[in-house]
Amino acid sequence: MGPKKPPLPPWLEKAAIIRKRLKTRGFMPNDRIQICEKCEEYGEEGWSLKGGEGRMGGRDIAYCMCCGRSRSWKSSMTAGRVVEEPFDLIAFLGIKPESID
Ligand SMILES: [Zn+2]
Repeated sequence: MGPKKPPLPPWLEKAAIIRKRLKTRGFMPNDRIQICEKCEEYGEEGWSLKGGEGRMGGRDIAYCMCCGRSRSWKSSMTAGRVVEEPFDLIAFLGIKPESID
């Protein structure tokens, strides 16, 4: 038996799953991490999905990998940019909550 690798912190493991799902859905990271207003940690990531021809409106998501705070902005031709908060990112991505808790 080799040396045992310490497990990743749960929030990091969770963030890795969420990032992978966001990419699968076509979201692109904004390459910008902000201070989260809720937990005040430097952990809020921004992701964007471009709207356009043959697609539904675009969507922006802000997700804090430290405390899990999620917000979403949906943009459409008719309603403009509408914020959704709280936003259930886990359900939106179709992740089973028990698989990451
Ligand atoms: Zn936070």
